[in-house]
Amino acid sequence: MDAALPSHERWGRLDGRRVLVRADLNAPVTMVDGALRVSDDFRLRATVPLLQDLLNRGAEVVVCTHFGRPRGHVVEEYRVAPVRQRLDELCPGVTLLENLRFSPGEETNDYEFGAALIDGFDYYVNEAFGASHRAHASIMVPPTLVPSAAGPNLRRETEMILAALEQPVRPFVAIVGGAKVKDKLALVKVLCEKADTVIVGGGMSYTFAVAEGRSIGGSLFDADFVDECAALLASGRVLIPHDARGLRRDQTFGRGGPEPVMSFGPNIPDDAMGLDVGPVSAAQFAEVIERAGTILWNGPMGVFEDPRFAAGTEAVARAVAASSATSIVGGGDSVAALFSFGLQDQVSFVSTGGGASLELVQYGDLPGLRALRESKWNA
Ligand code: AMP
Repeated sequence: MDAALPSHERWGRLDGRRVLVRADLNAPVTMVDGALRVSDDFRLRATVPLLQDLLNRGAEVVVCTHFGRPRGHVVEEYRVAPVRQRLDELCPGVTLLENLRFSPGEETNDYEFGAALIDGFDYYVNEAFGASHRAHASIMVPPTLVPSAAGPNLRRETEMILAALEQPVRPFVAIVGGAKVKDKLALVKVLCEKADTVIVGGGMSYTFAVAEGRSIGGSLFDADFVDECAALLASGRVLIPHDARGLRRDQTFGRGGPEPVMSFGPNIPDDAMGLDVGPVSAAQFAEVIERAGTILWNGPMGVFEDPRFAAGTEAVARAVAASSATSIVGGGDSVAALFSFGLQDQVSFVSTGGGASLELVQYGDLPGLRALRESKWNA
């Protein structure tokens, strides 16, 4: 990126000024005594320092967010009321607008919608890293109309990820997992250019295994990407599992079950499927991770939601946690895995925006960051 992201601190006192904050308060909710309540307020608490600082500077603070996927219509269950209630407890004195995605103009990046949103405000702050890979109106339009800034979390998350990519302490070890090779192949490609080793696990690793000429039974596979996987393996930087654990291919998985777990070597028989990396590969991955200077992890090593197939992901999580490297964990599932093992405090940085962090790694920039840097108001 060509310039630093602008901070709101340059505005000094803000007495009598109106500031619109685009936040990411898309928190999970559950029904308690007939009313929806926020069940995990991590994203809300993360936003409070900025809101409090703006209040302390004398500003009138209004916050906006998306919440669920109402797709341009008013949908009762996606009203922000439960978020508003919790935010009011955490940071009294700020106003939260109704769900941005009730208006079709938000997701189509409609200029009129964005202009109406910022109308009457003196300043705009984007503190929604997790939404900044989307060219949506609340992200793109305000920086064209008023002085704008990047919130402290947005700046920190962006700087952490870019520093890991551009000035890594070596060896730089990237770990990529998850279900579909199609979703993450571009990421593996970019990481092969930057990292010393790219560990690939999870469902996506079986297409790589086929590219090595191995049999994978009924494991996840995408024939369209075998050649690209072969090319990446030829770089010599990709490390994939050579043993696996799984089930017969007609058995079900996801929440545990009585079926006995099968162990496989490099080849998986026709009537079986791989659902986790095997113990030999898990130990090999852990060894590589323990020597790393920089670690970037996105995606689980197996079907970790099923306790029978969590061992590979847990081994990686423990190795990342034990390492003294700068470690960044992103992506909903890897973060969920980290929390499920209670290791979230033992990594350098837990990235809040799964899709956004992937795109930042892949492209080195995001539409929302570009909008802030290119704002004429920041010249
Ligand atoms: P993603 O959304 O691409 O990060 O994928 C995460 C999902 O991949 C998790 O829900 C895992 O259960 C699933 N997953 C990981 N490994 C496998 C595998 N070997 N077979 C099927 N699903 C897998």
